Amino acid sequence: MSSYEVADHLVDHPPLFMCRKHKSFLKLNRSFVEELIAWAPDLQPQNLTEVAATSLGGDDQAFRLSDYLVPPKLVIFNPRKIPGHGALPYLVVLVDRKFFGIPASYLRRRIFEGCEQCAAENDPTSDAQFPDYKPPVKKAPAAPPAVNKSGPIPATQKPAAQPTKPVPKPPAKPQQQQPTAIPTKSIPKRPAEPKFDVPPPPH
Ligand SMILES: [Zn+2]
Repeated sequence: MSSYEVADHLVDHPPLFMCRKHKSFLKLNRSFVEELIAWAPDLQPQNLTEVAATSLGGDDQAFRLSDYLVPPKLVIFNPRKIPGHGALPYLVVLVDRKFFGIPASYLRRRIFEGCEQCAAENDPTSDAQFPDYKPPVKKAPAAPPAVNKSGPIPATQKPAAQPTKPVPKPPAKPQQQQPTAIPTKSIPKRPAEPKFDVPPPPH
C-alpha cells in the first residue's frame, strides 16, 4: 500500500497503523484528510531540522540529511497548539503532493477508518480517554513542603479531573549501575566505517 485515494485526494507515503483490538490496517479517513488540506494554506512549510531545533539543544547533526536528498518541507498540523515536544511530528504523510507532519496527539480513532469491527463498535469514549500531550512536570528534589515557591499544584491538591489510568512511569534507574562483565548477548563486530565522498579505489 504505497498510496491510496480519499475522496479526490491522493495520500502518498501513508503511515501503516493497525487497531490494537483487531489488527486491521487503517487509513486516514475523509474528514481528516479534508481537514489537513483545509489547514494547509495557513501553515508555513518548515524544514524538519527547523521543526526539531528547539528539541535538539543545539545539536545540528541529529537531523542532518544526506546531500543526496532534498529535505522535505513539512506542514506541521497542530491546530490545538499542542506545546513543546508534543508538537514534534510523529509521522509524515504526503497528501496532494504536500508533506504533512502530524504530532502523536492527533492520531486518534476518529481520524482513521478501515476496521469494520471498530466501526461497528462505535465506541465514542476511546478518543476521550487519550488526553493531549502535556509537558512532564519536573519533580522538585525532596524539599520540605513549606518551601513551595509558587510552583505547580502539589499532588495532594490536584483537581478532581484525574485520568482514569495512572501514567506509567519508567522504572527508576539505579544510582550507579556497574556494567556487567559478561554481556548477556554477544555483540556483533562493528561494521567498517562508511566512506563518503571517496571515489572507489582503482581495480
Ligand atoms: Zn479494529
